[in-house]
Amino acid sequence: MIVPKVSRRTRSWIVCLGFLTAGPAAALAADCPGHPDALGTSRTIVVDPREHPRIGTMQYRETLPLRDHEVVLTFDDGPLPKYSNQVLQILANECIKATFFTIGKQAQANPEGVRKLVAAGHTVGTHSYSHPLTFEKMPIEKAQAEIDGGIASVTAAMTDPAALAPFFRIPGLLRAEGVENLLASRGIQVWSADFPADDWRHVSPERVYQLAIQRLEAKGKGVLLLHDIQPRTVAALPKIIRELKARGYRIVHVVPATADRPATPTEPVEWLLHPPSENVAVVRWPRIPSFVFTRSETLRAPLLSDLNAELPRQAASSHWGIAKAGAENLPVPSRDLFEIKEGSLEVLLTASRHAATRLAPANTADAVSSRKAKGRGRAVAVATHGGQHAQASRATAKRTARNANASAARPTKLASLKKRQQQ
Ligand SMILES: [Zn+2]
Repeated sequence: MIVPKVSRRTRSWIVCLGFLTAGPAAALAADCPGHPDALGTSRTIVVDPREHPRIGTMQYRETLPLRDHEVVLTFDDGPLPKYSNQVLQILANECIKATFFTIGKQAQANPEGVRKLVAAGHTVGTHSYSHPLTFEKMPIEKAQAEIDGGIASVTAAMTDPAALAPFFRIPGLLRAEGVENLLASRGIQVWSADFPADDWRHVSPERVYQLAIQRLEAKGKGVLLLHDIQPRTVAALPKIIRELKARGYRIVHVVPATADRPATPTEPVEWLLHPPSENVAVVRWPRIPSFVFTRSETLRAPLLSDLNAELPRQAASSHWGIAKAGAENLPVPSRDLFEIKEGSLEVLLTASRHAATRLAPANTADAVSSRKAKGRGRAVAVATHGGQHAQASRATAKRTARNANASAARPTKLASLKKRQQQ
């Protein structure tokens, strides 16, 4: 779908590259008319999705081949005129080129917004048709329809459809191998990120600014994930950019390789955040997605993330003993990590038993019957409450753990008890 359009896209990019290959200084502040103090765009890199199909260290082994203190800005979920236009103006004032992951439905509602992105020289990728937060579990046919629907809608909004980049970001970063393989087979690059700034949460613009800078400083370079549909992002962006400049960071623009525009030559090691070293532990990948976005039908109001705001952090710190002081620099675990699936009574009971097993050594036969009775009670209660399974299961698991801790007399299996009695 994208490949046949390469030649036309190439032509459109040649003009752009002629400007960019004039050297890093060409796009810097001096060339930002009316904005002598602009941060500018220091260089452009051309990437080949077929050589590097997945990027972003939040989830993948590789990320973009950036040098120290280089940053790529990305914006998801637009275009939404009210805020996207302000983001565009802020970037224009700083002569910054970014990458936008647009949603098909948004493009249908605001095709002019897509054309503005292209006209301003930004890279435009896609982010599905309707932003479902189920990519990790939906049938591959449905995922394909979402991907294709997004590409078709965004392409239809463009004056030159070849301007679309074969870059895709999975909604909510809810990755699935089948989806990634599908995208890779079609030459579409999956973009995770290196750090978010939590701008989809109900936090202040000041907090978005702080997180963006702190997380960037922690990695020294990388792909920043933002949203051009959030007022707090609009409010935070100028300060983020000013701080990037003050700290010596440089903006990098990313464009896709084409038949006539080869990828920027790189060594494999440049696609790793840090070169391998005997002193640095190797990170397994892919990681668990570290956050959940808003539901597609409420793109402007991060309702799900409200629910997500506190619970996983508390659970993470108490569960694994992560120090709270440093927690803000750590990825926030997904809700799904702590959620027992709806309707899965078996899973719930197994989890409860597991918690009791770990926390309470076996002692008496009375405790066995007592526990079994309570277990039956819980099973009935949970089964009765239908749609509240997820919440009920979490609460039950917590109660179970507390009870087990308090009594310290909770055996788990009759078999293990008999074995102890025999000893
Ligand atoms: Zn999104």
